[in-house]
Amino acid sequence: MTATIEKPKADRGALAEMVAQLASGDIRVVDLTNILSSDFPVIVLPSEFGQCEPFRMETVSRYDGNGPAWYWNNISMNEHTGTHFDAPAHWITGRDIANGTVDAIPPEDFIHPAIVIDISDEAAADEDFIVTRAFLEDWEAKNGRIEPRHWIALRSNWSRRVGTLSYLNLKDDGAHSPGPDADAMRFLVNERDCVGLAVETVGTDAGQASLFDEPLPAHSILHGAGRYGLQCLTNLDQLPIRGSVIVASPLKIKGGSGSPLRVIALVPAAAD
Ligand code: MN
Repeated sequence: MTATIEKPKADRGALAEMVAQLASGDIRVVDLTNILSSDFPVIVLPSEFGQCEPFRMETVSRYDGNGPAWYWNNISMNEHTGTHFDAPAHWITGRDIANGTVDAIPPEDFIHPAIVIDISDEAAADEDFIVTRAFLEDWEAKNGRIEPRHWIALRSNWSRRVGTLSYLNLKDDGAHSPGPDADAMRFLVNERDCVGLAVETVGTDAGQASLFDEPLPAHSILHGAGRYGLQCLTNLDQLPIRGSVIVASPLKIKGGSGSPLRVIALVPAAAD
């Protein structure tokens, strides 16, 4: 018989080390998810198009005659309701991307580090603030080069508008909210190899992006390159610029274009 020798702490595997740091609080878990409820706003498209259904919930039983010892609900929604994930197949540019639906995306892609770009001052000053390539290059000059295979999280503080009409910010001429232009998206996808774009607004594109010279560039360029979107996030102000890891694991809907999900971030406490 061989005696079991307990490995010294330094030798534990990386995963065990992570679990220990989660238990000790050295790694914090930040919830980036808004509450899914019937009053959470959904994107509104021009009336000639089909519309995104809000969340609905009907109680089947709650310890009553329909189920004396159990509580459960029937729920329904669009794949793009609430805090949600956009798969490549969501957009026509991504229709032929291999593994482009939520059931087929490699699960390794559900865990990636994040780079948080703060556009909150700009978005407060201009609700149609456009993230350009020049803005990103200036950001890199101050904060360092954007590393490959990261979520690019745009912290706009837009989540603070949840519960008010200014979240969708619909006006006579459509929605007004910040987002990237096409050159910024090509830079992030082609030159910085981002995993996807993660935003607090209801879409990865700016509110007025359907009117851009290249319409809806975030959707078109991200998904055409097999990249992902995350929308309606909150608490991005709790993440450091670098060092956090986003866990975003969509429902495994057969052939699905996206899905509501619980998005969390792992953040080293030392980053506080
Ligand atoms: Mn979507």
